[in-house]
Amino acid sequence: MSDTAVFRATARSWLEENCPASQRQPITPGEQYWGGRNGSFPSEDARIWFERMREQRWVVPEWPLAYGGAGLGEQEARIIKDEMRKLGCRSPLYSLGIWMLGPALLEFGSEAQKDEHLPAIAQGRARWCQGYSEPGAGSDLASLQTRAEIDGDHFVLNGSKIWTSQADRADWIFCLVRTDPAARKQEGISFLLIDMASPGITVRPIELISGASEFCQTFFDNVRVPRGNLVGPLHGGWGVAKALLKHERKLMSEIGIESATRAYGAIECAKRYLPVNATGQVADAVMRDRLARHEMQMHAIGLTQQRIIEESKARAGSGLTALVMKYCGTEEEKRRQELMVAMMGSQGLGWEGEDFSGPEIDTVRGMLGSKALSIAGGSSEIQLNIIAKRALGLPGVT
Ligand SMILES: Cc1cc2nc3c(=O)[nH]c(=O)nc-3n(C[C@H](O)[C@H](O)[C@H](O)COP(=O)(O)OP(=O)(O)OC[C@H]3O[C@@H](n4cnc5c(N)ncnc54)[C@H](O)[C@@H]3O)c2cc1C
Repeated sequence: MSDTAVFRATARSWLEENCPASQRQPITPGEQYWGGRNGSFPSEDARIWFERMREQRWVVPEWPLAYGGAGLGEQEARIIKDEMRKLGCRSPLYSLGIWMLGPALLEFGSEAQKDEHLPAIAQGRARWCQGYSEPGAGSDLASLQTRAEIDGDHFVLNGSKIWTSQADRADWIFCLVRTDPAARKQEGISFLLIDMASPGITVRPIELISGASEFCQTFFDNVRVPRGNLVGPLHGGWGVAKALLKHERKLMSEIGIESATRAYGAIECAKRYLPVNATGQVADAVMRDRLARHEMQMHAIGLTQQRIIEESKARAGSGLTALVMKYCGTEEEKRRQELMVAMMGSQGLGWEGEDFSGPEIDTVRGMLGSKALSIAGGSSEIQLNIIAKRALGLPGVT
């Protein structure tokens, strides 16, 4: 057996032995563990699973040992994720620190910043949120106006961030701030790490159409931030921000793939709600067509994803394929959710109440929540602009 095959077999048997059966079921938002100072485990099994993975250092297997990872290579880390997916293992920790900030700190952070923040992220001790968007700066992010002025050893922050997911539960926020108002807009921005317990920060939750309230507006009123919390060069935060956005878009592009591998997908929904004809096919030709299109699209997305992985392993390919994945993955996920609600017929009108089962209500709310996927992390229109310019080489709009 090759070394890779041995590693795969060992990883698989460790996961089989250590992942409790309940942690191999499809996960709902209420069952996710996000860590942090005030984080609580949704169940005893979730605690056991997280702690075993933390001891094994497989929460972030590819991070260096010194920062709470297992120091594994890209290929081994991918094998662990692969085997987890095949066994249906839940992610033990949901974390913007793992998905976005950690990789950016590994690239741009000082040693002191890495030592302070990476182990805390890997061990689930710190929960992070993202302070990029502002009321007047979303797609045109570089127009942000939150000011940070230098005062001795500190920055003093004033302004507000909007759509800050889970800011009301986060311990820290990574933030883009304007440090040089006179410079060209991309060149006057810095990247700061801010403790959410700092005096002068106020957080107001915003309610969403899905009934959830994962958003906040975050206000900064003369908030003092040590200068040691600056990541990358002063006024050089745009480079850090762009690198981090790449990780965010990769994550968003994988959401559709993950959903497709969940136990309760479009096929299961069809089996439960759609009548079949004498040959066992879905009787309604329009639904049959929509379902087949969706399955084909998911298959194509899955294969493209595989191609991206193979290209990156072989250090071949232009890397441009990955650019289209955020757009394709999130748009298809919206179509999947709409299709499922349509298949449910009048049961797809449920919002609450005894006439509807829990999964029916979850599906309807999931469909409404999915509208956000093609906005968060850069809207679909902006993704199309990026694809047009960077992948297809089309001229920009003047
Ligand atoms: C679920 C969710 C979670 C989020 N979490 C966070 C978070 O944690 N932290 C954070 O900082 N932000 C977060 N955001 C904000 C997100 O990044 C912004 O909503 C997004 O970048 C779009 O900005 P906007 O809302 O200001 O829309 P706008 O930029 O005002 O855009 C409005 C519309 O105009 C279109 N448009 C704008 N410019 C162009 C153009 N040049 N060409 C074509 N069309 C254009 C857009 O596509 C969109 O349809 C989140 C958003 C969502 C939905």
